[in-house]
Amino acid sequence: MPYAQNAPIFGKQMLTTFSEIDLNGIKGVLLDLDDTLYPYDICHNFAYEKCKVFAGANYAISEVDFDLTWKAARSKVHNDLHGQGASHSRLLYFQKQYEQVFGHTDAAYVLKMEDLYWTEFISVMKIDSDAKDFLKLLKSKRIPSCIVTDLTTQIQLKKWLHLGLENYIDFIVTSEEAGVEKPASYIFNMGLEKLKLNPSDVIMIGDSEKKDIEGAKLLGIKTYHIKANSTFYKTQQ
Ligand SMILES: [Mg+2]
Repeated sequence: MPYAQNAPIFGKQMLTTFSEIDLNGIKGVLLDLDDTLYPYDICHNFAYEKCKVFAGANYAISEVDFDLTWKAARSKVHNDLHGQGASHSRLLYFQKQYEQVFGHTDAAYVLKMEDLYWTEFISVMKIDSDAKDFLKLLKSKRIPSCIVTDLTTQIQLKKWLHLGLENYIDFIVTSEEAGVEKPASYIFNMGLEKLKLNPSDVIMIGDSEKKDIEGAKLLGIKTYHIKANSTFYKTQQ
């Protein structure tokens, strides 16, 4: 077997693939969403550029100012709301961005940009083909599954619908719902509660060593470190 599960490789768990997952004796599966079932960066970069162009054309925010104020706003929100789902809120990023540029709040800008960002983001989202095959396999084996994800529930549910996850996955837990983010045990335990299973019954699949792999291992859950295949994704555009 080329990739032994949980084998320490220079202190890290090697990336593996969906086809290498061993489902023998597994009663349920916990899955990360972003960058595990679809490639995140392609979608973010596409949406970000659309927002930058819109802000330039309609609010005269230069590309340099857009980049600088986005980074500062994102950093501020991350720090203020560390460990909470809202720390990723684009609504808050755009609010603080505008306030930095113009010195006051503009509700129309914030709401428009947040909607534009996620609309463009979701418009290019595609599920990793290996991930989809794996979800079909779970369904055929009647193994229940739960997404465990860091972000606000509304946007994760929109992604869920766009990717057609309702056909394969039984539950979702978001960090907004849990009040904490991965790697905190509470969010994984909430997923286990929904599945009515114990840590030894399930596996956790995710792209983040720190959040998904280390978090699940704290509870004794067997883990698979998998990142969505963006190379394949690009060829399908
Ligand atoms: Mg992820």
